Amino acid sequence: MAITVKFFANFREVTGKGQERVEETKNVASLLDELVSRFGERLAEQLYSPGTRKLRGEVNIFVNGKGIGLLQKLNTPLKDGDVVAIFPPVAGGKLTPDELKRYSRQIIIPGLGKRGQLKLKRAHVFVAGLGGLGSPSSIYLVVAGVGHLKIIDEQQVDLTNLNRQVLHWENDVGRSKAESAVKKLLGMNPNVKVDSKLKRITPENINKLIKGADVVVDGMDNYPMRYLLNEACVHNHIPFVHGAVEGFVGQMMTILPGEGPCLKCAIPQEPPKKPVFPVLGATPGVVGCLQATEAIKLITGVGEPLVGRMLIFDGRNMTFNEFRVEQNPSCPVCGKLIR
Ligand SMILES: [Zn+2]
Repeated sequence: MAITVKFFANFREVTGKGQERVEETKNVASLLDELVSRFGERLAEQLYSPGTRKLRGEVNIFVNGKGIGLLQKLNTPLKDGDVVAIFPPVAGGKLTPDELKRYSRQIIIPGLGKRGQLKLKRAHVFVAGLGGLGSPSSIYLVVAGVGHLKIIDEQQVDLTNLNRQVLHWENDVGRSKAESAVKKLLGMNPNVKVDSKLKRITPENINKLIKGADVVVDGMDNYPMRYLLNEACVHNHIPFVHGAVEGFVGQMMTILPGEGPCLKCAIPQEPPKKPVFPVLGATPGVVGCLQATEAIKLITGVGEPLVGRMLIFDGRNMTFNEFRVEQNPSCPVCGKLIR
């Protein structure tokens, strides 16, 4: 006897497989036990409410195309040839008891509330790059409950990354950053969906990659890529949270296409390149956290976004300054969007 189990979305990430064959099992409950024994506690975290063997309300299991809720739930018997599909907790229409508790300290923030939390749950954020900026920004987006995070990086973890790229640890050296990041992020919050891609962002794939995103976060380390993201975000009317660092200094600005200047208005020429730029890990830590804050504000509608203002953080003197940026009517990227 053999049963085919198909995994979708996060379950694919956790198991590293699209499907699995299980011989001889009585029912759905015993099948899940078998899968947890094969794939470990991370699968259990995705399937069950914390500390229990009670299926999370948001997990959907289908046997031969029928939801087990309509069959005999976990006692649904299984026989040779059955196909079981397991879908992850997806961003749904309400907050679960676990989520209400998990996010309780931020739900009580005036202006955020359950409505804001639900907006976060339904949100889709694209984080471009999983280095010094992408590490803290994706961590804080995930723990805040952003329902769908898409992360991308083409590189492998190198020892020289570890002074600042806090998603990647000693034993990740040599592993892909995308793989290393998704493990840590889902370990922090299994309620969210994290799609990771080991890929280079190019002019050809950028529009497809950011499609459907509510916010794009700049975690790049070079201006050609930032300009590419800026242009694609302006073109697709997606808010873009720019960030950059060097040494003790960081900068950030939020681009709301059609509502203010873009990155090209603020920095028309690419600054001189350095083969290796110096950076203290805490600097992108500060800027990445600020970027996550901006993304969360944009999604929930709380506060004033950093539009038309370039914020400069100087850790050496411990100062925050900002300068106004005007939209350039002849900007090659956003000039046509001037209202
Ligand atoms: Zn512009």
